[in-house]
Amino acid sequence: MDYFSIFKSQRDFYKSHQTKDISFRKENLIKLQKILKSNEERLYQAIYIDFRKSKFDTYANELSIIYAEIKYFLKNIERLSKPQKVKTNLANLLGESNIYKEPLGCALVIGAWNYPYQLTLAPVVSAIAAGNTCMIKPSELPENTMRLMAELINNNFPSNYLYVVEGGIPETTEILKYPFDKIFFTGSPKVGKIVYQAASKNLTPVTLELGGKSPAIVTKSADLDVAAKRIVWGKFLNGGQSCIAPDYVLVEESIQDEFLKRLKKQLEEANYEDGAEHYVSIINKRNFDRILGLIEQEKIFYGGKTNEATLYIQPTVLLNVGWEDAVMQEEIFGPVLPVLSFNNLQETLGRINKLDKPLAAYLFTNIKAEKELFLQNISFGGGCVNDTIMHIANENLPFGGVGNSGIGNYHGEFGFNCFSHQKSIIKKAVWGEPNLKYPPYTEKKLNWLKRLM
Ligand code: NAD
Repeated sequence: MDYFSIFKSQRDFYKSHQTKDISFRKENLIKLQKILKSNEERLYQAIYIDFRKSKFDTYANELSIIYAEIKYFLKNIERLSKPQKVKTNLANLLGESNIYKEPLGCALVIGAWNYPYQLTLAPVVSAIAAGNTCMIKPSELPENTMRLMAELINNNFPSNYLYVVEGGIPETTEILKYPFDKIFFTGSPKVGKIVYQAASKNLTPVTLELGGKSPAIVTKSADLDVAAKRIVWGKFLNGGQSCIAPDYVLVEESIQDEFLKRLKKQLEEANYEDGAEHYVSIINKRNFDRILGLIEQEKIFYGGKTNEATLYIQPTVLLNVGWEDAVMQEEIFGPVLPVLSFNNLQETLGRINKLDKPLAAYLFTNIKAEKELFLQNISFGGGCVNDTIMHIANENLPFGGVGNSGIGNYHGEFGFNCFSHQKSIIKKAVWGEPNLKYPPYTEKKLNWLKRLM
C-alpha cells in the first residue's frame, strides 16, 4: 500500500481549508457517530472474538466514551473555535489581543490494543473537531477490531480526510517517517520513545499517552468495604489490562488483615471465573506467559488458577511482596495484584517517588491531611481519592500522564487544544501610537519606557 500518497493527499486536502469549516467538522462527527451506532452489533462481535470483551464492557468503557466526546464537541465546537479575546497590555495600547485556534493540519493517531475502539477513535474525534485530517493506526493485536475500524472508516470517509492503516510494526515504522503536523500515540513508554524519536526528525509535536505502575494506597482511616470494592473493580476490569488500573496496593499494616478479608469477599462476590461474561481474557499467549512469569506461587493469597486454552488468568492477589520482586519492576498490565504494607504514609509516598511517575494514583482515606499529603507529595497523571479509574470518565478533566507516563493530555477541550495551534494575534489601530519604540533612542525615551513598563 502506498501510504505516502495517502499522506500527501491528506496534506493537500488540508490545504484546501475545507476541514476548517465548522459545519464540515460537525457533519463528520455526526457521520462517525451514525456509522458506529448502526454497526454496534458488529463492533461488539469483533471485540468479543478478539478478547472476549462483553457488550456491557464495550459499551460502558469504549463506545460510550467516544459518544460522550462527540456530544461534547457538537455542543461546544463553536465556543472552542472562536478567537479568544485576552487583555491587551500597555505596550500594545490601542490594540486588541486574540488567541486563534488553528488546526495543526495532518494528524497521525496510533492506538493501543486494550481499549481498541476508545483509544483509537476518541483522539480521532478530537482531531476532527479541531479541523485536522487524520491517518489512524489501530493496534494490530486485536485483529478483528482493527479490520472492522478500517472497513468502517475507509469505506465511509474519503482517504484524503480519514484513513485507517492496518498493520503492525513495519507499517507504523513506515508512516512514522512522514512529516505529520501532529502525532498522538497511546501505548507503552518503550514504544513511546520510538515514536518521540521519529517525530523529532520532523519537529512534529506529540501527545504520548503511556503507562506505568499506578499505586492504590489504603490508610487505616479508610472505609475498607468501599476501598476493597472499588480496587477490585478498577484492577480486574478488562482483565487487569487497563492503563490506569491500580497496579499494586499499599495498605497500612494495622488494617492489612481486615482489608485482605474484604478484598477476598469482593473477589468471591465478583465471580471472575473462567468463561464469566464480565471477565475479559488476556490478549494473547505472549502476554499470558509474561503475566504468569510475575506470579510467585508461594506468595499467592488468592487466585492463581489459569487456563491456557482460554487465556484465562484468575484475579490473583500476592502477599509478602517486596519492592525488589519482579512483579514490582514493571507495569503488570494483567490481573495480578501485589499487596504491600506500610506504617508511615509520608515515607511510603517517598518510596513511590523513587519509581517513575505513574499514570494514575489512588488514595483511600477519610483524613483531610492524608489527602493533602498525597496530592502534594507525589506526581502522577491523574487519579482519585476514594475511588479508582473514574477520573477518566469526566470529559471536563484532562486525561494524560507526566514524566514516564506521558506528555500532554486530551478529552473535551483538552483534546481540542491538543490538535490545535494557538495563534497569538494583535490587531492594531493605525493612529495614536507614541513614537517611543522607534529610534533615535534618547535618555528621555528611556525614562518614559521605564515609567510605562
Ligand atoms: P505498545 O506500545 O506495544 O503498542 C502501541 C502501538 O504502537 C500499537 O499500535 C503498535 O502497533 C505500535 N508499535 C508497537 N511496537 C512498535 C514499534 N517498535 N515501532 C512503532 N510502532 C510500534 O502498547 P500496547 O501493548 O498496545 O499497550 C500497552 C501499553 O500501553 C501499556 O504500557 C499501557 O499502560 C499503555 N496504555 C496507555 C494508555 C493511556 O491512555 N495512557 C491507554 C492504554 C494503554
